Amino acid sequence: MLQVFNTKKPRIYIAYTGGTIGMRHTSSGWKPERGLLKKLMNRLPELNSTIIPTYTIDQFRPLLDSSNMVPANWIKIANKIAKVYDKYDGFLVLHGTDTMAYTASALAFMFENLRKPVIITGSQIPLIKARNDAVDNLITSMIIAGHHKIPEVCIFFDHKLFRGCRSVKLDCDGFHAFDSPNFPPLATTGVHIDINKNLFKTKPRPTGRLRVHQEMHPYVGVLWLFPGIKSDVIENFLQEPLKGVVLQAFGVGNAPNSDTPDGLKFLKALEDANNRGVVIVDCTQCLKGTVDLSDYATGKDLRKVGVISGYDMTPEAALTKLFYLFGKKFSSRKVKIQMQKNLRGELTRPKYVKARNSRGRLRK
Ligand code: ASP
Repeated sequence: MLQVFNTKKPRIYIAYTGGTIGMRHTSSGWKPERGLLKKLMNRLPELNSTIIPTYTIDQFRPLLDSSNMVPANWIKIANKIAKVYDKYDGFLVLHGTDTMAYTASALAFMFENLRKPVIITGSQIPLIKARNDAVDNLITSMIIAGHHKIPEVCIFFDHKLFRGCRSVKLDCDGFHAFDSPNFPPLATTGVHIDINKNLFKTKPRPTGRLRVHQEMHPYVGVLWLFPGIKSDVIENFLQEPLKGVVLQAFGVGNAPNSDTPDGLKFLKALEDANNRGVVIVDCTQCLKGTVDLSDYATGKDLRKVGVISGYDMTPEAALTKLFYLFGKKFSSRKVKIQMQKNLRGELTRPKYVKARNSRGRLRK
């Protein structure tokens, strides 16, 4: 662990997990190289500025291309942060961009009573290259993590700070790699760092000690629909041991309901799975907008067979929420209720749903 101490400054802990930011090109392609990031950071004059918080870099072993991340890695990150939580003002996770939105969503659910910033960043071009997006992403994230009291897991990328469980990777080439299409950025950086405190998830205000929920149920999945998808493929996919599935449906959450043999078999496969306790959460394939299963007949029929709405959740948030809720060993009925509730700022229930369920009753 490299430690740089100055007692008056805010302190941040940096969990360096891998990703392009610290990669070097090798004969087998770009890979993270141990020690390279620290060496390159030591050469950055910006890090000598008084605005830079005192920092500790914890280089994970092994460093990963984030395509290799699994829930055990999320648990490791969460536990490392929890262990040093009281010693630091903020936390930075350096991470590959490919699965960053999954890690950000998972950490949001795993941390309960989070009162300090956990900022995840990385870059599209590594720090070793002369022209890169790594320097600004790294330095601005360090400043935000140290100087701003943001009680959330966030992604900082290309001058914007996003709520982690609302974020998606939308560009694999450009610097504006992330966005949160259904929620405004928590902060924008230009000449100034403009933080929009009104957007923080402060209700209910956390009072208890930080808790880490570290059980993740392994058998959850995502099913992306397409015209012509075969019902027997769906039937097979929904078999045991699957517990929960994010159904990425069309538009406002629609799916085939034709009275052809295949259409009928499709709805039957969902109904059977629902009856076995598989939780099926409908999220749209669209990047923006919310699911409404009361709009079209093709959506209403899904509701009839037990599919629940994921409203405006990202697929990453819906999936990691299933990992988390089934990890808590909740019954399918309880998972369904929690999936439709806003736990960490990951969803907004549209006004028409609130009006309909004025006593807050959710579909079971
Ligand atoms: N493959 C890399 C990763 O996710 C991409 C990146 O970091 O931008 O680790």
